[in-house]
Amino acid sequence: MLMIKERTPAIRTLRGWAISLLQEAGAIRECEEHGWMQDRADPHARERAFAEARREPPAGVSPDEALAAIVDVLASIGDTCSECPPG
Ligand SMILES: [Zn+2]
Repeated sequence: MLMIKERTPAIRTLRGWAISLLQEAGAIRECEEHGWMQDRADPHARERAFAEARREPPAGVSPDEALAAIVDVLASIGDTCSECPPG
């Protein structure tokens, strides 16, 4: 039997956590056609995501680090899908 243990660097895990939290808060959404993440530019949704990150950071991650991961993801996501035609 093959035991494949996936190695997931902490940073990638943290980013994945941040993305799903932002999606749940409604701060970002996935393009239905292309799957790219889009920033919805909703300050209230962002605020919810920030509050949630501070309140419940992932295990072994400090609230500050969790918050930084959220900010990082937001900074890396555009407000439009890279493949959708503009407009
Ligand atoms: Zn698209």
